[in-house]
Amino acid sequence: MQVESNIVQDYAADPAKLSLNWFDDDDEMAGGDSIVAQGYSAVVDYLVGVVKSKGGKIALGAPVTAITYNSGGVTLTLARPRTATFLALLAPQIGAEVTAGGTEYAAPFAIVTLPLGVLKAKTVKFTPKLPGAKANAIAKLGMGTLNKVVLQFPPASSWPDGNWFERMPLQSDKGRWREFFSLRTITRAAGAEQPIIVAFNAGSPAEYPASTSDAALVTAAVNTLRAMFGAANIPEPVQTWVTRWHSDPYSFGSYSSVQPGAKGRERADLAATTAGRLFWAGEATHQRVPATVQGAWLSGAAAAAAAAAAF
Ligand SMILES: Cc1cc2nc3c(=O)[nH]c(=O)nc-3n(C[C@H](O)[C@H](O)[C@H](O)COP(=O)(O)OP(=O)(O)OC[C@H]3O[C@@H](n4cnc5c(N)ncnc54)[C@H](O)[C@@H]3O)c2cc1C
Repeated sequence: MQVESNIVQDYAADPAKLSLNWFDDDDEMAGGDSIVAQGYSAVVDYLVGVVKSKGGKIALGAPVTAITYNSGGVTLTLARPRTATFLALLAPQIGAEVTAGGTEYAAPFAIVTLPLGVLKAKTVKFTPKLPGAKANAIAKLGMGTLNKVVLQFPPASSWPDGNWFERMPLQSDKGRWREFFSLRTITRAAGAEQPIIVAFNAGSPAEYPASTSDAALVTAAVNTLRAMFGAANIPEPVQTWVTRWHSDPYSFGSYSSVQPGAKGRERADLAATTAGRLFWAGEATHQRVPATVQGAWLSGAAAAAAAAAAF
């Protein structure tokens, strides 16, 4: 139970996929746990505002398929041409300036923030091939899975106050439905109670096959809550949301971990600049607080500072 709640749910990986030596080679930041009351989109909105205020441009709906680099610069190849109509549809959603045009961007340098899962899946082709230490880091770090089933209940639902509810799963649960997070108490304290419970599944039990439907997952989560809190207290949810980060082609996982066989230098190798032109950021590159938003943020700031100093 302790291994499951302290390790598997935290590191999003089965114990067999974690290096005994290095799996917990990260630090906790000072301060307690907090929740972003307005949701994480507030963080993205803030960053979009910063980009806009500096005259920056954001190209949406423009997945990169190839990155070509040499000592003279970098060329990004996009999956499809950015059409003005397509971007005009997306622009109001994010309120950012967007660009339209062909399939290639040439630039003096690039900051690569591709998720580790995407790097592992090799859906973006690097030319020339990435150096050995970088390729080794991509192979030796693991991309774990933490998925949520979010359940919004009608007001006439009831469960005890508190944030986290943990349980010992039955064998028939296939390792799922160990941990639930209630937003009810927190949102009540903030003045707008929301009867929402988030079920967390981690590691291989969270890598649902495509044949497992969202409806089946919701039913299993609701039935578990009924067994915990009484069927009369848990009516049918009014809204549900199931994440599948492990099969999302733009993440292929939730966040990074350190696999058996690692030597402890993999995150530094992943962060190292390539050919003086490719700077690297993203949670997996941060040595102190990987697998977090703060690690992603700090690594991005460091990569931007390094690029600004070099050019
Ligand atoms: C369920 C869950 C719970 C979590 N809980 C917490 C928590 O409580 N606290 C915490 O600090 N962190 C938490 N995390 C981790 C945190 O969300 C990540 O560490 C962080 O978002 C990683 O940021 P990033 O910029 O490295 O990667 P991402 O946010 O994944 O950004 C990478 C971007 O690259 C884009 N991309 C991918 N492929 C391409 C391509 N080919 N071309 C162009 N763009 C591409 C993606 O669309 C994405 O926008 C959680 C994660 C999950 C999944």
